[in-house]
Amino acid sequence: MATIFTKIINREIPATIVFENDKVLAFKDINPQAPIHILVVPKKEIPTINDLKEEDRELIGEIYLAIGKIAKDLGIADQGYRVISNCNEYGGQEVFHIHFHLLGGKKLETKIV
Ligand code: 5GP
Repeated sequence: MATIFTKIINREIPATIVFENDKVLAFKDINPQAPIHILVVPKKEIPTINDLKEEDRELIGEIYLAIGKIAKDLGIADQGYRVISNCNEYGGQEVFHIHFHLLGGKKLETKIV
């Protein structure tokens, strides 16, 4: 089912886009948890990590390549950053279109949770 991220991909609602290619879109999170908080999403609608298929193998590579490029472009690659992807209720997922949070711009306090 289409989510708010599909509306952003289709330019039906606005977002501050920082990266786009034919498979991936990245934009600023509306409620940032760090000085830099980018959401990196596949254009393909995949609700959760559990729904990934063999055919999505290359797409996940595309996403990580995009993350590395965005981090360099935003000047946080060398200092470092964190990538988080939440799945379902216990993981705290709220938008059911897989996405990767790219967080940086300061030293993040906790390691995992
Ligand atoms: P989740 O909790 O599913 O891992 O992350 C969803 C993220 O999407 C949250 O960090 C939330 O702030 C962000 N978000 C929700 N709605 C919008 C929106 O309309 N625009 C943008 N840019 N981010 C959104």
